[in-house]
Amino acid sequence: MIELRTPAEIEEMRPAGRFVAEVLTTLRDETKVGTNLLSIDARAHEMIRRAGATSCYIDYHPSFGASPFGKVICTSINDAVLHGLPHDYVLRDGDLVSLDFAVSVNGWVADSAVSFIVGTPRDEDLALIDTTERALDAAIAAAQVGGRIGDISHAIAQVELAEGYSINTDFGGHGVGRIMHGDPHVPNNGKPGRGYPLRPGLVVALEPWLLETTDKLYTDQDGWTLRSADGSRGAHSEHTVAVTDDGPIILTDRSFLGVD
Ligand code: MG
Repeated sequence: MIELRTPAEIEEMRPAGRFVAEVLTTLRDETKVGTNLLSIDARAHEMIRRAGATSCYIDYHPSFGASPFGKVICTSINDAVLHGLPHDYVLRDGDLVSLDFAVSVNGWVADSAVSFIVGTPRDEDLALIDTTERALDAAIAAAQVGGRIGDISHAIAQVELAEGYSINTDFGGHGVGRIMHGDPHVPNNGKPGRGYPLRPGLVVALEPWLLETTDKLYTDQDGWTLRSADGSRGAHSEHTVAVTDDGPIILTDRSFLGVD
């Protein structure tokens, strides 16, 4: 069921969005060559506790998960792109890091993801990240009252296909509200003018992600982490966005922090 939020409810969602933005910015700034993924999770957990927020991940146990997630952030490195379970790994020069983070603050959820390189970047990794970021910008620009979900899907795909990437539509965006994953599903490719109408009060997480040379995934032995079938690297960009009569509001926007 798709739930629409009132303008007052969208205002109530802002603290969750701001907190997610602050955490991702802090973690990105602190994550370096030599950082252990477990320490990223511990730092996120500390920030959650201090803020009185509630993790959406730690008890998360969907049908596709082997067991409750048990951590508060997804850390997907190099050939891992989604649902990366933090583990005892020390980041190396040139690693591609994707952090995906969702919490509930005052009963409202926000969900966002960012990819970046630690140490010396490879050009192909920067291009991959840049493409997911531009696809997200295009998705947000398409999140207009009067449009449809397919307009967002198409906008994402146009950016990515123009760069020669192939698109997996198994995992995409989703409604966000009192819980992390709600209707509607927002595929990362689709036909304009199709799908659910974009009405004022629709709040969705938009999340283009890509693999460099494949659109196929497999699940790691940990039961969670999704990796590319061919070992190529992945990137992921996500914001929680409210569709309003005044245009899209990026609830997890990091620009107020003076970055991005
Ligand atoms: Mg997310």
